[in-house]
Amino acid sequence: MALGTVWVFAELSQDRAATGALELLTKARSLGAADVEAVCFGPGAGDAVAELGRHGATTVRLSTDPAFAELLLGGPAADTLAAAVAEHRPDLILFAATHTGRDVAGRLAAKLDVPVIANGLDIEAGEAITVTTAIFGATQVVRTEFGARRPALALFRPKSFPAAVAPGAVAPRVVEVPAVIRECHRRARVVDRSVEIAAGPKLEEAEVVVSGGRGIQNAGNFELLREVAELLHGAVGASRAVVDAGWVPYSLQVGQTGKTVKPAVYIACGISGAMQHTVGMRGAQKIVAINKDPQAPIFKLADLGIVGDALIVLRQLRDELRSRPG
Ligand SMILES: Cc1cc2nc3c(=O)[nH]c(=O)nc-3n(C[C@H](O)[C@H](O)[C@H](O)COP(=O)(O)OP(=O)(O)OC[C@H]3O[C@@H](n4cnc5c(N)ncnc54)[C@H](O)[C@@H]3O)c2cc1C
Repeated sequence: MALGTVWVFAELSQDRAATGALELLTKARSLGAADVEAVCFGPGAGDAVAELGRHGATTVRLSTDPAFAELLLGGPAADTLAAAVAEHRPDLILFAATHTGRDVAGRLAAKLDVPVIANGLDIEAGEAITVTTAIFGATQVVRTEFGARRPALALFRPKSFPAAVAPGAVAPRVVEVPAVIRECHRRARVVDRSVEIAAGPKLEEAEVVVSGGRGIQNAGNFELLREVAELLHGAVGASRAVVDAGWVPYSLQVGQTGKTVKPAVYIACGISGAMQHTVGMRGAQKIVAINKDPQAPIFKLADLGIVGDALIVLRQLRDELRSRPG
């Protein structure tokens, strides 16, 4: 069955198209759909149009109603999308697996009585639309086909696909979508937003990630990882064991219940290499592992394995990097 129109629910991040939306548009272009469109709600939606178009949206359906920033987005976005779906009948809607993406997709699935597949890693569209997910701590991969009901809804983990500009992209058509804001959704208002200020690149976007596990021994030793990460213009990551221990915040956790990263280089320091961790970093182009146990599972993935005390190796690396000009 030929794939008709694919929509990407494009979230905004500080009035710019969120990276997840650009990743989904890039993937949507490869599915052989008749058309790829973005749907974007919020006062800054107009500012995101050009970026969405560059990544392959031929049409951007938007509403700049201030309610989308003043209220919790999930309810109004699902209602507005449901009305737009009834009018335009897309075959497939892709969402990033963020808090908002999950909220909107879940509500929309219930409203339209259509299936939603969450936590997707990949998608193919041929005779059927098939989504790949990983289950049981990423030990098994499952491929699930959507039935005939449309639209099919699917959520994908950030970094499941690279974001790439569409060759020959032209400025997209912009279509206003009437906002549907029910009274019940006006009962809760957003009163404050805070943005975490981080030095250096974001973990999910860094080209180099220096990640620490229980082998780093204590919270104070993470300063050494921060120094090395800064010298390499990278970001610090962590295993769940050290997040659970309270050494670093959850925002640094890499893995099944944390972030997925795909840097050029991932340096795993004192991390054993449990499946739940490696599912979040195995897409790195090069993996360097430092572990004092030569049998540690992380070495099976590593392009370069260093058997030794991670703290000693990291200090040597820091001193070497500092001694280099520039
Ligand atoms: C449902 C579920 C979800 C999970 N999600 C995640 C997730 O998202 N991310 C995640 O990371 N984990 C996750 N886990 C936990 C995961 O199973 C592991 O327990 C965790 O990754 C282990 O962290 P670690 O490698 O730091 O610690 P450990 O397994 O204790 O390994 C520490 C390593 O450090 C080495 N070491 C010790 N001292 C030194 C030293 N001085 N120098 C060098 N090496 C040293 C040891 O040899 C060992 O290999 C999840 C578990 C479950 C059940």
